[in-house]
Amino acid sequence: MKIHEYQAKTILAKYGVPVPRGEVANTLPEAAEAARTLLANGATGVVVKAQIHAGGRGKGGGVKVVRDLVAAEEAAKAILGMQLVTHQTGPQGQKVQRLLVEETAAIDRELYLGIVLDRATGKLVFMASQAGGMEIEEVAAKDPDAIYKEEIDPVIGLAYQGRKLAFALGLKPSQVNQAVGFFQSLYRAFIETDASLLEINPFITTKDDKLFALDAKMTFDDNALFRHPEIKALRDVAEEDPLEVEASKYSLNYIKLDGSIACMVNGAGLAMATMDIIQYAGGSPANFLDVGGGATQEQIEHAFEILLSDKNVKAIFINIFGGILRVDRLATGVVAAARNLNVTVPIVLRLEGTNVEEGRKILKESGLNFEVGATMKDAADLVVAAAKAVA
Ligand code: GDP
Ligand code: MN
Repeated sequence: MKIHEYQAKTILAKYGVPVPRGEVANTLPEAAEAARTLLANGATGVVVKAQIHAGGRGKGGGVKVVRDLVAAEEAAKAILGMQLVTHQTGPQGQKVQRLLVEETAAIDRELYLGIVLDRATGKLVFMASQAGGMEIEEVAAKDPDAIYKEEIDPVIGLAYQGRKLAFALGLKPSQVNQAVGFFQSLYRAFIETDASLLEINPFITTKDDKLFALDAKMTFDDNALFRHPEIKALRDVAEEDPLEVEASKYSLNYIKLDGSIACMVNGAGLAMATMDIIQYAGGSPANFLDVGGGATQEQIEHAFEILLSDKNVKAIFINIFGGILRVDRLATGVVAAARNLNVTVPIVLRLEGTNVEEGRKILKESGLNFEVGATMKDAADLVVAAAKAVA
């Protein structure tokens, strides 16, 4: 689950990470009020920042640093409600529905910090770089050695590596102890919230030797959210695709894509293989959908509704390996859904596994127009042909 920068900063502040003073604003008057308060209380300027679930806002025009109230109001007016396009939003962009208004900092250096799980070692990796700021992706691609990495032992935690990282960042002696405390707070925040990613870019030093998290990105492990109701409550569904929100209500793992062949699959690995084989057969997938191992008939009906409400869908490919989800139960669900929803787009299935014969029989006796592929490749060819025939 993703959260906004302002929410991440509130969490980090609780762990002792220094963040600039600021206020979230949902309207222009709120933004003006926040700027007025900061400027009246010693801020020499304010920064107005779009709050969307994507990075690269600075380059897309979603971050403006200003010196006075009039300019702050103008910046807020320009950003709030804009369709912000960044390298992470896709070409359609994301509508800005919230702003963060913060005190500006007198930046000396812009550095980078990040914590992610390295699946190869099963350990968290603490990353740091002197090349922080808006070009970090380019740095990572062109000059990977400019990013220092420290693996963290889950038993020992982040200990001496904090000093190593501080020295690698070229921090002044007067900043090192502060920095180590900063890193440890980040690490504790990551562990205790069951985060899956934490990124501070830029992590800044100021001319008077202070350190701040000027930007903050945090995402959380969905499977651990039950342990953190206060974090779950931070979810902003206005930032998510409406079909994905709908799917999550029924515990379906759905991601909308821009092709024309809808997929309904059980198991994430099989779902990825299905998307690949559709491409291989010359088509393009309209979504990723994993109905899970124990899908019920109700879930399958909802899955159909979601697939069909995507206007780009020309054909549906159901690729199921019956294990915990038996093929006959899937077939019953598919037939019921196709009847209830009056499905008219062609459906191609590839079925294997437990009770596959019973499943095929249910489909055949339904009288509905399903095509069944003998193999996965065969089914992919059929569905691509069906989609092309419609288009
Ligand atoms: P992102 O582009 O979505 O990662 O947004 P950031 O929060 O990282 O902001 C982008 C850039 O704006 C930063 O790298 C800074 O250079 C600049 N910026 C953000 N806040 C301030 C600030 O308070 N003062 C100044 N001078 N620059 C800022
Ligand atoms: Mn940033």
